[in-house]
Amino acid sequence: MTPPANAARNSNAARDIANVLHPYTDHRAHAVNGPLVIARGEGVRVWDDQGKEYIEAVAGLWCASLGFDSKRLADAAHKQMLKLPFYHAFTAKSHEPLIDLSEMLIERAPCPMSKVFYANSGSEANDTAIKMVWYYNNAIGRPEKKKIISRLKAYHGITIASGSLTGLPANHKMFDLPIAGIIHVSTPHHYHGAKPGESEEDFATRLATELEETILREGPETVAAFFAEPVMGAGGVMLPPATYFEKIQAVLRKYDVLFVADEVICGFGRTGNYWGCQTYDITPDIITCAKALSASFLPISAIIINDKIFQGLADGSATIGTWGHGFTYSGHPVAAAVALETLKIYDELNIVDHVKTAGAHMQKLLRERFEGHPLVGEVRGIGMVAAIELVADKANKKNFEPSAKVGPRLAKAGEAEGVILRGLANDTIAFSPPLIMKTDEIEQMVDRTARALDAVTVQLRRESLT
Ligand code: PMP
Repeated sequence: MTPPANAARNSNAARDIANVLHPYTDHRAHAVNGPLVIARGEGVRVWDDQGKEYIEAVAGLWCASLGFDSKRLADAAHKQMLKLPFYHAFTAKSHEPLIDLSEMLIERAPCPMSKVFYANSGSEANDTAIKMVWYYNNAIGRPEKKKIISRLKAYHGITIASGSLTGLPANHKMFDLPIAGIIHVSTPHHYHGAKPGESEEDFATRLATELEETILREGPETVAAFFAEPVMGAGGVMLPPATYFEKIQAVLRKYDVLFVADEVICGFGRTGNYWGCQTYDITPDIITCAKALSASFLPISAIIINDKIFQGLADGSATIGTWGHGFTYSGHPVAAAVALETLKIYDELNIVDHVKTAGAHMQKLLRERFEGHPLVGEVRGIGMVAAIELVADKANKKNFEPSAKVGPRLAKAGEAEGVILRGLANDTIAFSPPLIMKTDEIEQMVDRTARALDAVTVQLRRESLT
Protein backbone atom coordinates (compact mmCIF):
# COMPACT_ATOMS: atom_id res chain seq x y z
CA MET A 1 0.00 0.00 0.00
CA THR A 2 1.26 3.53 -0.79
CA PRO A 3 1.96 5.40 2.43
CA PRO A 4 -0.40 8.34 3.02
CA ALA A 5 0.86 11.85 2.33
CA ASN A 6 1.34 12.82 5.95
CA ALA A 7 2.98 9.49 6.81
CA ALA A 8 5.94 10.38 4.66
CA ARG A 9 6.46 13.55 6.72
CA ASN A 10 5.61 12.03 10.00
CA SER A 11 6.65 8.64 11.25
CA ASN A 12 4.07 8.81 14.07
CA ALA A 13 1.34 8.81 11.45
CA ALA A 14 2.76 5.80 9.62
CA ARG A 15 3.27 3.86 12.84
CA ASP A 16 -0.24 4.74 13.97
CA ILE A 17 -1.76 3.51 10.72
CA ALA A 18 0.31 0.35 10.91
CA ASN A 19 -0.57 -0.54 14.51
CA VAL A 20 -3.49 1.31 16.10
CA LEU A 21 -7.17 0.42 15.91
CA HIS A 22 -9.02 3.62 16.87
CA PRO A 23 -12.39 4.01 18.59
CA TYR A 24 -15.19 5.53 16.50
CA THR A 25 -12.99 5.78 13.38
CA ASP A 26 -13.46 4.76 9.74
CA HIS A 27 -10.51 2.37 9.42
CA ARG A 28 -10.25 2.61 5.62
CA ALA A 29 -10.39 6.43 5.60
CA HIS A 30 -7.85 6.46 8.43
CA ALA A 31 -5.39 4.46 6.34
CA VAL A 32 -5.50 7.29 3.79
CA ASN A 33 -5.84 10.36 6.01
CA GLY A 34 -3.83 9.30 9.06
CA PRO A 35 -4.21 10.52 12.65
CA LEU A 36 -3.98 13.91 14.30
CA VAL A 37 -1.23 13.14 16.82
CA ILE A 38 -1.52 15.31 19.91
CA ALA A 39 1.83 15.75 21.58
CA ARG A 40 1.29 18.02 24.56
CA GLY A 41 -1.19 20.22 26.40
CA GLU A 42 -1.33 23.37 28.49
CA GLY A 43 -4.38 25.18 29.84
CA VAL A 44 -7.26 24.89 27.37
CA ARG A 45 -4.90 24.17 24.46
CA VAL A 46 -3.15 21.18 22.92
CA TRP A 47 -0.35 20.99 20.33
CA ASP A 48 0.10 18.37 17.64
CA ASP A 49 3.39 16.68 16.86
CA GLN A 50 4.04 19.24 14.10
CA GLY A 51 3.85 22.05 16.69
CA LYS A 52 0.42 23.37 15.64
CA GLU A 53 -1.70 24.78 18.48
CA TYR A 54 -5.43 24.12 18.99
CA ILE A 55 -8.07 25.32 21.46
CA GLU A 56 -9.92 22.27 22.75
CA ALA A 57 -13.60 23.17 22.43
CA VAL A 58 -14.77 19.84 23.88
CA ALA A 59 -12.14 19.25 26.58
CA GLY A 60 -11.15 16.05 24.77
CA LEU A 61 -14.32 14.00 25.24
CA TRP A 62 -16.25 16.47 27.45
CA CYS A 63 -13.90 15.52 30.23
CA ALA A 64 -10.63 17.45 30.72
CA SER A 65 -12.38 19.87 33.08
CA LEU A 66 -9.18 21.47 34.39
CA GLY A 67 -7.53 21.61 30.99
CA PHE A 68 -4.36 19.86 29.93
CA ASP A 69 -1.87 20.50 32.73
CA SER A 70 -1.87 20.45 36.53
CA LYS A 71 1.21 19.98 38.63
CA ARG A 72 -1.02 19.46 41.65
CA LEU A 73 -2.79 16.47 40.11
CA ALA A 74 0.50 15.03 38.86
CA ASP A 75 1.97 15.40 42.36
CA ALA A 76 -1.11 13.80 43.97
CA ALA A 77 -0.67 10.76 41.69
CA HIS A 78 3.08 10.59 42.28
CA LYS A 79 2.72 10.82 46.06
CA GLN A 80 0.07 8.09 46.15
CA MET A 81 2.10 5.85 43.83
CA LEU A 82 5.02 6.03 46.22
CA LYS A 83 2.85 5.42 49.30
CA LEU A 84 0.46 2.71 48.09
CA PRO A 85 0.27 2.23 44.30
CA PHE A 86 -2.46 -0.39 44.40
CA TYR A 87 -4.90 -1.86 46.73
CA HIS A 88 -8.40 -3.16 46.14
CA ALA A 89 -11.71 -2.80 47.90
CA PHE A 90 -13.04 -6.39 47.69
CA THR A 91 -14.07 -8.24 50.86
CA ALA A 92 -13.96 -5.11 53.04
CA LYS A 93 -10.41 -4.01 52.21
CA SER A 94 -10.01 -0.26 52.13
CA HIS A 95 -7.55 2.61 51.93
CA GLU A 96 -7.59 6.30 52.77
CA PRO A 97 -8.06 7.81 49.27
CA LEU A 98 -11.16 5.62 48.86
CA ILE A 99 -12.59 6.66 52.22
CA ASP A 100 -11.79 10.36 51.77
CA LEU A 101 -13.19 10.54 48.24
CA SER A 102 -16.40 8.75 49.22
CA GLU A 103 -16.92 11.15 52.12
CA MET A 104 -16.41 14.13 49.83
CA LEU A 105 -18.84 12.81 47.21
CA ILE A 106 -21.53 12.12 49.80
CA GLU A 107 -21.06 15.65 51.20
CA ARG A 108 -21.38 17.16 47.73
CA ALA A 109 -24.28 15.03 46.46
CA PRO A 110 -27.34 16.98 45.28
CA CYS A 111 -29.67 15.13 47.67
CA PRO A 112 -29.15 12.89 50.72
CA MET A 113 -27.05 9.94 49.56
CA SER A 114 -25.66 6.98 51.45
CA LYS A 115 -22.74 5.15 49.78
CA VAL A 116 -20.35 5.31 46.83
CA PHE A 117 -19.15 2.45 44.60
CA TYR A 118 -16.38 2.82 42.00
CA ALA A 119 -15.61 1.73 38.46
CA ASN A 120 -13.26 2.97 35.73
CA SER A 121 -15.47 4.50 33.07
CA GLY A 122 -18.89 5.95 32.46
CA SER A 123 -19.98 2.75 30.71
CA GLU A 124 -18.94 0.60 33.64
CA ALA A 125 -20.70 2.96 36.04
CA ASN A 126 -23.96 2.62 34.11
CA ASP A 127 -23.56 -1.16 33.79
CA THR A 128 -23.03 -1.26 37.53
CA ALA A 129 -26.13 0.89 38.10
CA ILE A 130 -28.21 -1.56 36.03
CA LYS A 131 -26.85 -4.49 38.05
CA MET A 132 -27.57 -2.61 41.28
CA VAL A 133 -31.17 -2.04 40.22
CA TRP A 134 -31.60 -5.70 39.28
CA TYR A 135 -29.89 -6.97 42.45
CA TYR A 136 -31.94 -4.54 44.57
CA ASN A 137 -35.22 -5.83 43.18
CA ASN A 138 -34.11 -9.44 43.56
CA ALA A 139 -32.99 -8.72 47.12
CA ILE A 140 -36.29 -7.14 48.17
CA GLY A 141 -38.37 -9.92 46.62
CA ARG A 142 -39.69 -8.48 43.38
CA PRO A 143 -37.62 -10.31 40.75
CA GLU A 144 -40.09 -9.48 37.96
CA LYS A 145 -39.38 -5.72 38.26
CA LYS A 146 -36.36 -5.48 35.92
CA LYS A 147 -37.08 -3.47 32.78
CA ILE A 148 -35.19 -0.25 32.23
CA ILE A 149 -36.43 2.79 30.35
CA SER A 150 -34.00 5.07 28.55
CA ARG A 151 -34.44 7.69 25.82
CA LEU A 152 -33.75 7.79 22.10
CA LYS A 153 -30.52 9.75 21.46
CA ALA A 154 -29.32 9.14 25.03
CA TYR A 155 -25.63 8.31 25.41
CA HIS A 156 -24.85 6.10 28.39
CA GLY A 157 -21.81 4.21 27.09
CA ILE A 158 -20.82 1.34 24.85
CA THR A 159 -20.57 -1.85 26.90
CA ILE A 160 -23.28 -4.39 26.15
CA ALA A 161 -25.70 -3.12 28.80
CA SER A 162 -24.82 0.59 28.76
CA GLY A 163 -24.68 0.45 24.94
CA SER A 164 -28.23 -0.87 25.10
CA LEU A 165 -29.25 2.12 27.24
CA THR A 166 -27.65 4.40 24.65
CA GLY A 167 -30.43 5.37 22.28
CA LEU A 168 -28.56 5.72 18.99
CA PRO A 169 -30.03 3.29 16.44
CA ALA A 170 -26.79 3.07 14.45
CA ASN A 171 -24.85 1.94 17.54
CA HIS A 172 -27.49 -0.72 18.15
CA LYS A 173 -27.75 -2.06 14.62
CA MET A 174 -24.04 -2.68 14.19
CA PHE A 175 -23.78 -4.71 17.42
CA ASP A 176 -27.17 -6.47 17.64
CA LEU A 177 -28.30 -4.35 20.57
CA PRO A 178 -30.27 -3.53 22.67
CA ILE A 179 -30.42 -6.51 25.00
CA ALA A 180 -33.87 -7.59 26.16
CA GLY A 181 -35.71 -5.51 28.73
CA ILE A 182 -34.39 -2.09 27.72
CA ILE A 183 -36.99 0.26 26.30
CA HIS A 184 -36.52 3.68 24.71
CA VAL A 185 -38.94 6.59 24.89
CA SER A 186 -38.84 9.84 22.89
CA THR A 187 -36.05 12.40 22.95
CA PRO A 188 -37.00 15.53 24.87
CA HIS A 189 -35.76 17.94 22.20
CA HIS A 190 -38.28 20.67 21.54
CA TYR A 191 -36.62 21.92 18.33
CA HIS A 192 -37.21 18.67 16.43
CA GLY A 193 -39.70 16.82 18.64
CA ALA A 194 -42.46 19.36 19.30
CA LYS A 195 -45.52 19.70 17.09
CA PRO A 196 -45.97 23.07 15.33
CA GLY A 197 -46.94 25.65 17.95
CA GLU A 198 -46.56 23.23 20.88
CA SER A 199 -45.14 24.97 23.97
CA GLU A 200 -42.26 23.46 25.93
CA GLU A 201 -44.68 22.71 28.78
CA ASP A 202 -47.18 20.96 26.50
CA PHE A 203 -44.38 18.99 24.86
CA ALA A 204 -43.16 17.93 28.32
CA THR A 205 -46.70 16.84 29.25
CA ARG A 206 -46.91 14.76 26.08
CA LEU A 207 -43.56 13.08 26.88
CA ALA A 208 -44.65 12.33 30.46
CA THR A 209 -47.86 10.80 29.09
CA GLU A 210 -45.80 8.69 26.67
CA LEU A 211 -43.68 7.49 29.62
CA GLU A 212 -46.78 6.62 31.65
CA GLU A 213 -48.34 4.76 28.73
CA THR A 214 -45.08 2.86 28.21
CA ILE A 215 -44.98 1.80 31.87
CA LEU A 216 -48.64 0.74 31.76
CA ARG A 217 -48.14 -1.17 28.49
CA GLU A 218 -45.13 -3.05 29.91
CA GLY A 219 -46.79 -3.53 33.32
CA PRO A 220 -45.60 -1.32 36.21
CA GLU A 221 -44.65 -4.44 38.17
CA THR A 222 -41.98 -5.15 35.49
CA VAL A 223 -40.45 -1.67 35.16
CA ALA A 224 -37.50 -1.03 37.48
CA ALA A 225 -35.72 2.17 36.51
CA PHE A 226 -35.47 5.19 34.24
CA PHE A 227 -32.02 6.41 33.14
CA ALA A 228 -31.44 10.01 32.03
CA GLU A 229 -28.69 12.52 31.46
CA PRO A 230 -29.89 15.90 32.84
CA VAL A 231 -28.64 17.46 29.59
CA MET A 232 -28.29 14.89 26.81
CA GLY A 233 -24.69 15.13 25.63
CA ALA A 234 -23.20 13.01 22.88
CA GLY A 235 -26.62 12.46 21.27
CA GLY A 236 -26.66 16.18 20.37
CA VAL A 237 -26.58 18.45 23.48
CA MET A 238 -30.31 18.56 24.07
CA LEU A 239 -31.79 20.45 26.99
CA PRO A 240 -35.03 19.21 28.54
CA PRO A 241 -38.12 21.33 27.81
CA ALA A 242 -39.50 23.36 30.73
CA THR A 243 -41.27 21.18 33.36
CA TYR A 244 -40.00 17.92 31.76
CA PHE A 245 -38.21 16.41 34.73
CA GLU A 246 -40.91 17.54 37.18
CA LYS A 247 -43.53 15.68 35.14
CA ILE A 248 -41.32 12.64 34.45
CA GLN A 249 -40.46 12.26 38.14
CA ALA A 250 -44.15 12.39 39.12
CA VAL A 251 -44.82 9.44 36.77
CA LEU A 252 -41.84 7.48 38.09
CA ARG A 253 -42.93 7.98 41.70
CA LYS A 254 -46.46 6.85 40.87
CA TYR A 255 -45.22 3.48 39.60
CA ASP A 256 -42.29 3.04 41.99
CA VAL A 257 -39.69 3.28 39.23
CA LEU A 258 -36.16 4.31 40.28
CA PHE A 259 -34.41 7.35 38.76
CA VAL A 260 -30.78 6.89 37.71
CA ALA A 261 -29.16 10.22 36.81
CA ASP A 262 -26.22 9.89 34.43
CA GLU A 263 -24.03 12.83 35.46
CA VAL A 264 -21.03 11.62 33.44
CA ILE A 265 -20.98 14.89 31.46
CA CYS A 266 -23.12 17.17 33.64
CA GLY A 267 -21.48 16.42 37.01
CA PHE A 268 -18.99 18.80 38.67
CA GLY A 269 -20.19 22.13 37.36
CA ARG A 270 -20.80 21.67 33.63
CA THR A 271 -24.38 23.03 33.64
CA GLY A 272 -23.67 25.91 36.07
CA ASN A 273 -24.50 23.94 39.21
CA TYR A 274 -22.39 21.28 40.87
CA TRP A 275 -24.76 18.64 39.44
CA GLY A 276 -27.11 18.66 36.47
CA CYS A 277 -29.70 17.28 38.93
CA GLN A 278 -29.63 20.65 40.72
CA THR A 279 -30.15 22.55 37.48
CA TYR A 280 -33.31 20.55 36.78
CA ASP A 281 -34.58 19.70 40.31
CA ILE A 282 -34.00 15.98 39.91
CA THR A 283 -33.96 13.77 43.01
CA PRO A 284 -32.24 10.59 41.81
CA ASP A 285 -31.94 7.26 43.61
CA ILE A 286 -28.61 6.59 41.91
CA ILE A 287 -26.06 8.95 40.32
CA THR A 288 -23.35 7.82 37.93
CA CYS A 289 -20.40 10.12 37.27
CA ALA A 290 -16.92 9.97 35.69
CA LYS A 291 -14.91 12.29 33.38
CA ALA A 292 -14.59 15.52 35.47
CA LEU A 293 -14.49 13.43 38.67
CA SER A 294 -10.73 13.15 38.15
CA ALA A 295 -10.47 15.95 35.57
CA SER A 296 -9.73 12.88 33.39
CA PHE A 297 -6.13 12.71 34.54
CA LEU A 298 -6.84 9.08 35.42
CA PRO A 299 -9.81 6.83 34.69
CA ILE A 300 -12.31 6.59 37.54
CA SER A 301 -16.09 6.61 37.78
CA ALA A 302 -18.48 6.54 40.72
CA ILE A 303 -21.97 5.27 41.45
CA ILE A 304 -23.59 7.15 44.32
CA ILE A 305 -26.67 5.52 45.88
CA ASN A 306 -29.32 6.62 48.35
CA ASP A 307 -30.15 4.81 51.55
CA LYS A 308 -33.19 3.06 50.13
CA ILE A 309 -31.00 1.33 47.53
CA PHE A 310 -28.26 0.68 50.08
CA GLN A 311 -30.66 -0.98 52.54
CA GLY A 312 -31.93 -3.25 49.76
CA LEU A 313 -28.39 -4.18 48.71
CA ALA A 314 -27.44 -4.81 52.33
CA ASP A 315 -30.43 -7.10 52.84
CA GLY A 316 -29.37 -9.01 49.74
CA SER A 317 -26.63 -10.93 51.55
CA ALA A 318 -29.29 -12.77 53.55
CA THR A 319 -31.91 -13.09 50.81
CA ILE A 320 -30.02 -13.80 47.56
CA GLY A 321 -26.30 -13.92 48.39
CA THR A 322 -23.64 -11.30 48.98
CA TRP A 323 -23.27 -8.54 46.33
CA GLY A 324 -20.99 -10.27 43.84
CA HIS A 325 -19.85 -7.32 41.78
CA GLY A 326 -16.65 -5.27 41.61
CA PHE A 327 -13.68 -4.45 39.42
CA THR A 328 -10.01 -5.04 40.18
CA TYR A 329 -9.63 -1.28 39.99
CA SER A 330 -12.82 -0.25 41.87
CA GLY A 331 -11.58 2.76 43.83
CA HIS A 332 -7.97 2.46 42.62
CA PRO A 333 -5.90 4.44 45.16
CA VAL A 334 -3.99 6.55 42.62
CA ALA A 335 -7.13 7.44 40.66
CA ALA A 336 -8.98 8.13 43.93
CA ALA A 337 -6.15 10.40 45.16
CA VAL A 338 -6.27 12.35 41.90
CA ALA A 339 -10.08 12.63 42.11
CA LEU A 340 -9.83 13.85 45.70
CA GLU A 341 -7.36 16.55 44.68
CA THR A 342 -9.58 17.47 41.72
CA LEU A 343 -12.55 18.08 44.01
CA LYS A 344 -10.38 20.25 46.27
CA ILE A 345 -9.28 22.30 43.25
CA TYR A 346 -12.95 22.78 42.21
CA ASP A 347 -13.69 24.13 45.69
CA GLU A 348 -10.71 26.49 45.67
CA LEU A 349 -11.52 27.79 42.17
CA ASN A 350 -15.22 28.17 43.02
CA ILE A 351 -15.68 26.30 39.78
CA VAL A 352 -19.47 26.54 39.82
CA ASP A 353 -19.38 30.34 40.06
CA HIS A 354 -16.79 30.49 37.30
CA VAL A 355 -18.97 28.33 35.02
CA LYS A 356 -22.00 30.51 35.77
CA THR A 357 -20.13 33.64 34.64
CA ALA A 358 -17.93 32.27 31.85
CA GLY A 359 -20.74 29.98 30.67
CA ALA A 360 -23.19 32.87 30.38
CA HIS A 361 -20.61 34.70 28.24
CA MET A 362 -20.09 31.60 26.06
CA GLN A 363 -23.84 31.10 25.55
CA LYS A 364 -24.36 34.77 24.67
CA LEU A 365 -21.47 34.85 22.24
CA LEU A 366 -22.52 31.62 20.49
CA ARG A 367 -26.03 32.99 20.01
CA GLU A 368 -24.80 36.38 18.79
CA ARG A 369 -22.38 34.85 16.32
CA PHE A 370 -24.33 31.90 14.99
CA GLU A 371 -28.09 32.30 15.40
CA GLY A 372 -28.39 34.50 12.32
CA HIS A 373 -26.09 32.32 10.20
CA PRO A 374 -27.87 30.84 7.16
CA LEU A 375 -26.71 27.30 7.97
CA VAL A 376 -27.45 27.33 11.71
CA GLY A 377 -30.83 25.94 12.73
CA GLU A 378 -30.45 26.07 16.50
CA VAL A 379 -27.92 27.30 19.05
CA ARG A 380 -28.57 25.65 22.40
CA GLY A 381 -26.86 25.09 25.70
CA ILE A 382 -26.55 25.91 29.38
CA GLY A 383 -23.53 26.63 31.56
CA MET A 384 -20.47 25.44 29.68
CA VAL A 385 -22.11 22.94 27.38
CA ALA A 386 -23.60 24.04 24.07
CA ALA A 387 -24.18 23.10 20.45
CA ILE A 388 -24.88 24.62 17.11
CA GLU A 389 -26.94 22.51 14.72
CA LEU A 390 -26.41 23.03 11.00
CA VAL A 391 -29.39 22.63 8.70
CA ALA A 392 -30.00 22.63 4.97
CA ASP A 393 -33.36 24.40 5.41
CA LYS A 394 -33.86 26.69 8.39
CA ALA A 395 -37.61 27.15 7.92
CA ASN A 396 -38.31 23.40 7.91
CA LYS A 397 -35.49 22.48 10.33
CA LYS A 398 -34.31 20.00 7.73
CA ASN A 399 -30.84 18.56 8.21
CA PHE A 400 -28.33 18.02 5.41
CA GLU A 401 -28.06 14.56 3.86
CA PRO A 402 -25.50 12.62 5.92
CA SER A 403 -23.57 11.97 2.68
CA ALA A 404 -22.75 15.72 2.50
CA LYS A 405 -20.72 15.19 5.71
CA VAL A 406 -21.29 18.78 6.81
CA GLY A 407 -20.45 18.19 10.49
CA PRO A 408 -17.22 16.33 9.75
CA ARG A 409 -16.26 19.06 7.26
CA LEU A 410 -16.72 21.69 9.95
CA ALA A 411 -14.61 19.67 12.40
CA LYS A 412 -11.89 19.43 9.73
CA ALA A 413 -12.11 23.16 8.92
CA GLY A 414 -11.91 23.83 12.66
CA GLU A 415 -8.61 21.96 12.84
CA ALA A 416 -7.23 24.18 10.08
CA GLU A 417 -8.31 27.25 12.09
CA GLY A 418 -6.83 25.90 15.34
CA VAL A 419 -9.93 24.72 17.19
CA ILE A 420 -10.81 21.10 17.91
CA LEU A 421 -14.56 20.68 17.43
CA ARG A 422 -16.71 17.61 17.86
CA GLY A 423 -19.32 16.80 15.24
CA LEU A 424 -22.32 14.82 16.50
CA ALA A 425 -25.30 13.36 14.63
CA ASN A 426 -27.43 15.80 12.58
CA ASP A 427 -24.40 17.99 11.89
CA THR A 428 -24.47 19.24 15.45
CA ILE A 429 -21.25 20.76 16.72
CA ALA A 430 -20.70 20.44 20.46
CA PHE A 431 -18.94 22.85 22.79
CA SER A 432 -17.91 21.53 26.17
CA PRO A 433 -14.58 23.22 26.85
CA PRO A 434 -12.44 22.84 29.96
CA LEU A 435 -14.42 24.39 32.83
CA ILE A 436 -11.50 26.72 33.55
CA MET A 437 -11.77 28.41 30.15
CA LYS A 438 -11.52 32.22 30.48
CA THR A 439 -13.47 34.92 28.66
CA ASP A 440 -10.73 35.77 26.14
CA GLU A 441 -10.21 32.07 25.38
CA ILE A 442 -13.96 31.64 24.82
CA GLU A 443 -13.83 34.54 22.36
CA GLN A 444 -10.92 32.96 20.51
CA MET A 445 -12.70 29.60 20.39
CA VAL A 446 -15.83 31.21 18.94
CA ASP A 447 -13.81 33.31 16.42
CA ARG A 448 -11.95 30.28 15.14
CA THR A 449 -15.20 28.31 14.87
CA ALA A 450 -16.86 31.16 12.96
CA ARG A 451 -13.98 31.23 10.47
CA ALA A 452 -14.27 27.45 10.02
CA LEU A 453 -18.02 27.73 9.46
CA ASP A 454 -17.50 30.45 6.85
CA ALA A 455 -15.02 28.21 5.02
CA VAL A 456 -17.51 25.31 5.02
CA THR A 457 -20.33 27.59 3.85
CA VAL A 458 -18.21 28.62 0.84
CA GLN A 459 -17.48 24.93 0.07
CA LEU A 460 -21.17 23.98 0.28
CA ARG A 461 -22.22 26.88 -1.96
CA ARG A 462 -19.60 25.87 -4.49
CA GLU A 463 -21.05 22.36 -4.51
CA SER A 464 -24.60 23.76 -4.67
CA LEU A 465 -25.46 22.00 -1.43
CA THR A 466 -26.96 25.16 0.00
N1 PMP B 1 -22.61 8.57 30.02
C1 PMP B 1 -22.49 9.75 29.39
C2 PMP B 1 -23.51 10.81 29.64
C3 PMP B 1 -21.42 9.99 28.53
O1 PMP B 1 -21.31 11.15 27.90
C4 PMP B 1 -20.46 8.96 28.33
C5 PMP B 1 -19.25 9.16 27.43
N2 PMP B 1 -19.24 10.24 26.60
C6 PMP B 1 -20.64 7.75 28.98
C7 PMP B 1 -21.71 7.59 29.83
C8 PMP B 1 -19.68 6.62 28.77
O2 PMP B 1 -18.48 6.91 29.38
P1 PMP B 1 -17.14 6.10 28.97
O3 PMP B 1 -16.78 6.52 27.60
O4 PMP B 1 -16.16 6.55 30.03
O5 PMP B 1 -17.44 4.66 29.09
